[in-house]
Amino acid sequence: MSREKVGEILEMNNPKHAVLQKIKNGRKTYGITPRIPGGFITPDQLIKIAQVAKKYKGTMKLTSGQRVAILGVKGEDVEKMWQELDMEPGVLSSYSVKNVEVCPAGFCKRSRQNSLPLGMKLEKRFYGAPTPNRTKIGVAGCRNACGSVHAKDIGVLADEEGFIVVVGGSAGFHPRLSDEIARRLTEEQAYILVEVIYDYYCKEAEMGEKLGIFIDKISIEKFKEDVMTIFDERVNGREMNE
Ligand code: SF4
Repeated sequence: MSREKVGEILEMNNPKHAVLQKIKNGRKTYGITPRIPGGFITPDQLIKIAQVAKKYKGTMKLTSGQRVAILGVKGEDVEKMWQELDMEPGVLSSYSVKNVEVCPAGFCKRSRQNSLPLGMKLEKRFYGAPTPNRTKIGVAGCRNACGSVHAKDIGVLADEEGFIVVVGGSAGFHPRLSDEIARRLTEEQAYILVEVIYDYYCKEAEMGEKLGIFIDKISIEKFKEDVMTIFDERVNGREMNE
């Protein structure tokens, strides 16, 4: 049975936008994670999450993806919890951009560029965007790369000369450090290059293929050459239209 089919069946048998965590004595418990763009949350949103967690006897957990999860909840409570939270789910599907992690940049004394606006723009653009496999994006204001940007599928880092775009990073069972694609980019160029990488990955990779695995299959040299060719065309096209 294909991976997508297994995913569909699992999703059919579980409440929407909840992750099955445990089955103990025949009883299933789930986790839900609201979307918190860039990890920035208002006091009222935080209070709301705490109130809902308390009401439905969930356990709150700060996640590595800069969100607050509510764990250990009953399947029959999930829909009511989402209604009361009145927030979007953090993850729309396993085959999508899972999250865009953003470092505090402008709030940090080490930042070389304020990468926050770019990070938030990328979060808005790629929230839930469909991909061949789960995809993470990370944005950092200096080469310290907080938020493990080198372990993200697509990463953007800043230094004194501009923005650097890296690809193919992954943690988990098959860790892979990212490869650099370009540096000395403006904020707009970095945004365009991330779009080009996303489009190329979606068009060329097979369903289920992580970006790093896809790059290793076709070689980093070919990947880089192809995306930079498309990038140059797109940047030149925009300049000519201005
Ligand atoms: S990556 Fe750099 S700018 Fe961002 S939080 Fe870490 S040290 Fe600060």
